[in-house]
Amino acid sequence: MVTIPLSRPPVDDEIKQAVLAAMDSRQWILGPECKEFETELARYVGVRHCVLSNSATAGLWLTLRALGVKAGDEVLVPSHTAFPTIEAICFADATPVFVDADAFYTMDVADAAARVTPRTVGVIPVHLYGQPVDVPAVRELATKFGLWMLEDCAQAHGAAWQGKKVGAFGRAAVFSFYPSKNLTVMGDGGAVVTDDDEIAARCRRLRDHGRLNKDVHSEVGFNLRFNDIQAAIGRVLLRRLDAMNDRRRELAALYGKGLAGLPLELPRERPGARHVYHLYVVRTPRRAELAAFLKERGIQTGVHYPVPTHRQPAVEHFAPSPLPATERLVDEILTLPISAGHTDAEIDAVATAVRAFFGA
Ligand SMILES: *Cc1c(COP(=O)(O)O)cnc(C)c1O
Repeated sequence: MVTIPLSRPPVDDEIKQAVLAAMDSRQWILGPECKEFETELARYVGVRHCVLSNSATAGLWLTLRALGVKAGDEVLVPSHTAFPTIEAICFADATPVFVDADAFYTMDVADAAARVTPRTVGVIPVHLYGQPVDVPAVRELATKFGLWMLEDCAQAHGAAWQGKKVGAFGRAAVFSFYPSKNLTVMGDGGAVVTDDDEIAARCRRLRDHGRLNKDVHSEVGFNLRFNDIQAAIGRVLLRRLDAMNDRRRELAALYGKGLAGLPLELPRERPGARHVYHLYVVRTPRRAELAAFLKERGIQTGVHYPVPTHRQPAVEHFAPSPLPATERLVDEILTLPISAGHTDAEIDAVATAVRAFFGA
């Protein structure tokens, strides 16, 4: 019995009406809704191009191909991320070079610098949990070693560093619209954003069978297109994104008050950053006990992620080196419920239950 879910994505009449309206056009694949959503999302992020795709995983793969990644190329990537970030690198024939985590659970840039080799071509920082990475440090790393930067913004729609939105710092960036993410489309979906005309054009081609025009295929791509029904939903929710993120920040502040003074590490916002709390992740060595205690009270929790990507069987053949900070934190992190759809009362109830667990 779950009374407080981890996430509650929006469903309402405005969204349903947008879906019904999108049906009428009979242009359901890359039609007018997709074109508008691309224009609006690019404008929102502050870049020139947006290329919709059917997932962020696909978007990462498209971008890596467009960047010209080839076998033997090494790509720096935090181990502490969702597996798709790694998977896209592998699927593009490149080698993931796993990097340890910093105090904010994002990529430790000093550790990344120590792992650069003559084969390193790029870096994929992940704005994990909705928290921007150390943007100036990653930029400096990319400049110093001549690497491209591809931002994984799957968890960070609307997050910003010094007032500039994430997704506008790298050569390109990728967003996900998976149901629990800050911007959703009632199913799978993703987008590549970039200021680079060539990367945008190549992603557009690759997502549609490498097509130059209706009849000519200049290279082998795949079918990774998006659809108008879901784009219509994305457009409605993009208009609400800032308000939904403000709401997430409000609830995070409520947690901050309710959980203060406990032997529990709370998320911290990096100075200069706007954290959008895709996930609210606390940390305690008593993680399993706390999760069980909350479950008994109908409160859903999660662990993002219990098995670090560098320890996944699928990438064993890369023989990744140990990453002590990542390996420590994965045993202690716990995700508490948060989304724009949660009420103050629900967050208070979770905080009260956590306080009860610690006997406070
Ligand atoms: C969700 C997520 C992805 C994958 O997104 P999909 O749209 O499900 O393919 C990639 N990276 C991170 C960090 C994610 O959280």
